[in-house]
Amino acid sequence: MNIFSFTAHFDSEESCRNHFKTERDKIGVACKRCGHTHHYWIKSQWSYECKQCRSRTSLRSGTIMQSSNLSFLIWYKTIFLLSTTKKGFSSKEIQRQLGLKRYEPVWSMVHKLRKAMGKRDDRYTLEGMIEMDEGYFTIEASEHDHQTQKAGRGSKTKSNVMVMAESTILEDIETGKVDRQCRYFKAKVLDDHKAEGTDDTFKNSIDGEQTIVFTDKSTS
Ligand SMILES: [Zn+2]
Repeated sequence: MNIFSFTAHFDSEESCRNHFKTERDKIGVACKRCGHTHHYWIKSQWSYECKQCRSRTSLRSGTIMQSSNLSFLIWYKTIFLLSTTKKGFSSKEIQRQLGLKRYEPVWSMVHKLRKAMGKRDDRYTLEGMIEMDEGYFTIEASEHDHQTQKAGRGSKTKSNVMVMAESTILEDIETGKVDRQCRYFKAKVLDDHKAEGTDDTFKNSIDGEQTIVFTDKSTS
């Protein structure tokens, strides 16, 4: 999605809320008080009302936007900015771009979104045929300094990193030449070199039963 299609789809607070509601309804809403999952929708309040106990749940409640005072439109614009560039934006830059007065709520929003995006990446698993190897890479861990609002340079260390790639065999129909193509890959920094930790990291990254693993020298 580019900036033009984004503004065409999400041109107002209402269009963002409607989109958010549609997505939330796909997952479903559970009542905070009684756990019931059937609700009325009260549009004037942007809230769900439990059909059993009449308890209300706002559209934000129980989501990443809970307890934020920023509008849905600001959240959507931020999600767009965070996901559209490889380098990403700093909280300070997002605050400037969106013309917001206070830094604190922006920092909090960006922090939550980054965490959620990281989690999503963790849930993602590889499937089919996987090639796996380990290697030593120099990694740089950067810490955002909340006080000075500057991104720290971080310390560079050499670490053992596991690299896993989906490996799909493709045959050229005309020439009969066989090639391998990678659809997705994952990289994970390993805590140690022990086989146990490596096995767990790997198991958490693949889609269980129907997976074939190729690796050359790993003893794990
Ligand atoms: Zn209820």
